[in-house]
Amino acid sequence: MTIILFDLNVEHSMSRDALSNWLEYINAFSDIKSRDPQTVDNFIADLTGIEITQYHCCTNSCMAYTGRYQDLDKCKFCQHK
Ligand SMILES: [Zn+2]
Repeated sequence: MTIILFDLNVEHSMSRDALSNWLEYINAFSDIKSRDPQTVDNFIADLTGIEITQYHCCTNSCMAYTGRYQDLDKCKFCQHK
């Protein structure tokens, strides 16, 4: 169950809050208890050796502030700050 939720999280770019809410619902109605996002992240990192790198992103999902855009103070597409 934990890996399935991690996959859904990555596939649909769920926020941590959204994933936490899903876990609350699933754990309330299931005998199989799933783990919180941080525990899942640590589990995946231990299992695969892949570490999570977090980047700031436009709240409208236009872009990530990485590479040559890391110093921008507003989105180059929608101008959101
Ligand atoms: Zn934007």
